[in-house]
Amino acid sequence: MVGQVGMREAKNLAGIGMTSQRTRERMVDRLRGEGITDERVLAAMAAVPRHVFVEEALASRAYEDTALPIGLGQTISQPYVVAKMIEALRAGGRDLGKVLEIGTGCGYQAAVLAHVAPEVYSIERIQALLDRARGNLLGLKLSNLRLTYGDGNLGLAKAAPFDSIIVAAAAPEVPQALLQQLAVGGRMILPLKMPQAGRGVQRLVLIERGPRAYTEKAMDAVRFVPLETGRL
Ligand code: SAH
Repeated sequence: MVGQVGMREAKNLAGIGMTSQRTRERMVDRLRGEGITDERVLAAMAAVPRHVFVEEALASRAYEDTALPIGLGQTISQPYVVAKMIEALRAGGRDLGKVLEIGTGCGYQAAVLAHVAPEVYSIERIQALLDRARGNLLGLKLSNLRLTYGDGNLGLAKAAPFDSIIVAAAAPEVPQALLQQLAVGGRMILPLKMPQAGRGVQRLVLIERGPRAYTEKAMDAVRFVPLETGRL
């Protein structure tokens, strides 16, 4: 056990081979090639060591542009999708302001957000994953990031309203509490299930709250784990 912890620390500190800064920069070059242009987002993706968030055995695959298992039937989001969602929230030179993330998972996207936004709250419904995320984030010293155990469908009333909301799990419709907790002028991005377009089809939807109404824009097709209800 001690040996494992030691190895993990050594890997985090040295960042050699497949987990090095250069590997991360190649990932960022790939994101540019795929159309991500927001320099602030690209800098955050270059700064966050994604290999820290995946299991030891998968660390060498951490910078591939793919979702990977993180245990308990959940996944770490694909780098392109993380970049795309944050870029969409920031489009037009917007500041993210106070952010709410639903679905902390391993904590990767939360760490990227904390590099781009002044204040980030993230909710996870599986206690064991939240504990793991805390461990993963320990060395990164992100003092503007707060993790909460709870059902993200309910949002986080005590810290609302939020300027930006980002949901990392797919729902059939937008949770009402999240619409209510979005500030006027704020934006939310989430994957929605589109059963009329076929089984398993999901699309990213960007929602903006105006003074009187919400507007919605459909974006890329994506694949996320389902947004569940209740806590585990
Ligand atoms: N943000 C993660 C992706 C995690 S996958 C990353 O950076 O890679 C989605 C996560 O959403 C899972 O951990 C799952 O447990 C969580 N989730 C699903 N439904 C939820 C809910 N209602 N409230 C909070 N978290 C939820």
